[in-house]
Amino acid sequence: MAELQRTTLCCCRKVLTVPSKSCEGGRGIGHCRLVDVASASNFHSFKLRHFHLDLHINFAVKRMTGWQVLELVPIQPGVQALILDTHPSLLIHSIDCKVPGSSGAPDIFLSLTYHVDPFTDYGSSLNISLPATVIRPHRAFQITIRYTTTDGPAIWWLDAELTCGQTRPLVFTQGHSVCNRSFFPCFDTPAVKSTYSATVRVPEGVTVLMSASRSAYSKQDRVFQFSMEFPVPAYLVALVAGDLQHADIGPRSRVWAEPCILTYAVSKLGGSVERWLAVAENLFGPYVWGRYDIVFLPPSFPIVAMENPCLTFIISSILESREFLLIDVIHEIAHGWFGNAVTNATWEEMWLSEGLATYAQRRITTEAYGEAFTCLETVFRLDALHRQMRLLGDNNPVSKLQAKFEPGVNPSSLMNLFTYEKGFCFVSYLSQLCGDIKRFDSFLRAYIEQFKFSSVVAQDLLDFFLGFFPELRAGCVEQREGLEFERWLNDCGPPLCEPDLSAGGILTDPVQRLCELWGTDARDSQAIATFDLSTWSTFQTVLFLDRLLDRSPLPQEMMSHLSSCYSALLDGMNAEVRIRWLQIVVRNSFYPDLPRVRSFLYKHTSRMYTVPLYEDLCGGVLKCFAVEVFYETQARLHPNLRRTLQQILFQTNAVTANTAPPIITSSSASSPTPGDPPTNGTIALRDVNVSA
Ligand SMILES: [Zn+2]
Repeated sequence: MAELQRTTLCCCRKVLTVPSKSCEGGRGIGHCRLVDVASASNFHSFKLRHFHLDLHINFAVKRMTGWQVLELVPIQPGVQALILDTHPSLLIHSIDCKVPGSSGAPDIFLSLTYHVDPFTDYGSSLNISLPATVIRPHRAFQITIRYTTTDGPAIWWLDAELTCGQTRPLVFTQGHSVCNRSFFPCFDTPAVKSTYSATVRVPEGVTVLMSASRSAYSKQDRVFQFSMEFPVPAYLVALVAGDLQHADIGPRSRVWAEPCILTYAVSKLGGSVERWLAVAENLFGPYVWGRYDIVFLPPSFPIVAMENPCLTFIISSILESREFLLIDVIHEIAHGWFGNAVTNATWEEMWLSEGLATYAQRRITTEAYGEAFTCLETVFRLDALHRQMRLLGDNNPVSKLQAKFEPGVNPSSLMNLFTYEKGFCFVSYLSQLCGDIKRFDSFLRAYIEQFKFSSVVAQDLLDFFLGFFPELRAGCVEQREGLEFERWLNDCGPPLCEPDLSAGGILTDPVQRLCELWGTDARDSQAIATFDLSTWSTFQTVLFLDRLLDRSPLPQEMMSHLSSCYSALLDGMNAEVRIRWLQIVVRNSFYPDLPRVRSFLYKHTSRMYTVPLYEDLCGGVLKCFAVEVFYETQARLHPNLRRTLQQILFQTNAVTANTAPPIITSSSASSPTPGDPPTNGTIALRDVNVSA
């Protein structure tokens, strides 16, 4: 059922959860403004019970046409208008209203007037006039919006050449954070949740999947029916349609993919998914969504993975990098509890989803793969966080856990490693405060049970934490000097403290020793040769390469030595390793290995691998080489990515190697506004690992 009941806006436009909050004049740490949502001015006036989509997908003209029915209940008297978020790429044909007759009277059908106003560059405001004479408080009514949507930010049309099989076109949607207003008119805020259903009509041979708990297919009518029986926010409604087949990989899980990669994908996951789900349930309580399926998407998918409920979307490019695949899938599984069941009420507190999901992901990997493995992965990610800190400076506001959006700022553009890793450190600190990791697991189970299917602000989490551990409240832990909760949330800079990662020493120490050997002026070749990278895990190798990347530019003689030791070996490894080595090659303008850069860019056409390499190429002296490779490969790039690369190549002073933030290509990459990401280096966070 609908989810408006827990959230409302106070007089100063803060999101308040009812009844736990009252307006605090902006002082409370739950303070949030909804500057990104046109519908913010009125969504608290309605309860959205349910909505239904009825869409026909036309690949030939790249359009979805149909209608949406919203079931609404006014919860305030005198409501005269309904304001929804929409987008200029969505063309509205008509809007009607149905009000059930009272006391046996016939239903009332009315055609409504509406107008669309500009709102921001990522959306518009749809203002629908309601007939005041028939709309009554607490009396449900239906709005039907007939519309066509084309190629807005949420909808990615792939011509056949851009798919893995290259035989049939494919379309997918990506709603996070504020894109789904171009898919269907909505209250495009994570504060509002509702159930939804859908009817999707497609040409023969096309399979449709949605983030829904139930589905059915009528072969005769070529109609797919979906139903999501649990309330979800608009951004978690997702669809993919194409030449997709499936294989079961567990009692509640199947892998979907294009036929040409299905067997490969299944072989990479095996029975692991059910094992990870079982570990997660043991830690955090029952998995509430029923199914956990995964669909592998072509390299044009703009991020690494997206936690769409019941159906994780993940990029097929990650399949070759086993450890990254493992981490990314476990991270998306963790979102089943943190982010999807309990959601951040505003994008200003995205860390509530990502920080908790990252913590949960690491609890799962600790149980399934041990503490050393988990610490190694954490070291590698915290390294990246500190690298970003050095580039941005200590006082950059993007390093705050609670971001403050200004009007017009696209929430996606501020997604960054702090959301994940500083959030993770804060959650780890809370677990340290309670003194026993198992007790903290119990707290997280209770938190999920308490807030399941609702949206929360940080204050809800922290109040519940202190209520769960009364001895901590009595000890005023929230005010502990230097570690005040308020400082964690609102101070710029690095995490106030980090968890003890010494258990990872068995895996990180060799990396550290090898880095030191390469750092000395008189390098000991014999000692270096004793380290066999072919026996290392991927995370060890990427940690080593990231640290070399930090030290670039390197002396040419050292580059030659590195290349002779590692280049051929690394070239046979997975893409996450190779991208890092090739970035070192590019940032050091090491010509002998340039052919490897070329062949990598010929093979890999995803945003997460191309953007960092092109940025590095343009930041140095290799721009002509970059332009040449771009022209040779552009036909195989999605138009949105092509535009991004053209901006890097031709329109901007590209971010230089020394100022570009590190690219961490897994556990998410981001695309703020597809096709039109920020183009200068002010906050070049766009591909810094924003996932999902
Ligand atoms: Zn995530």
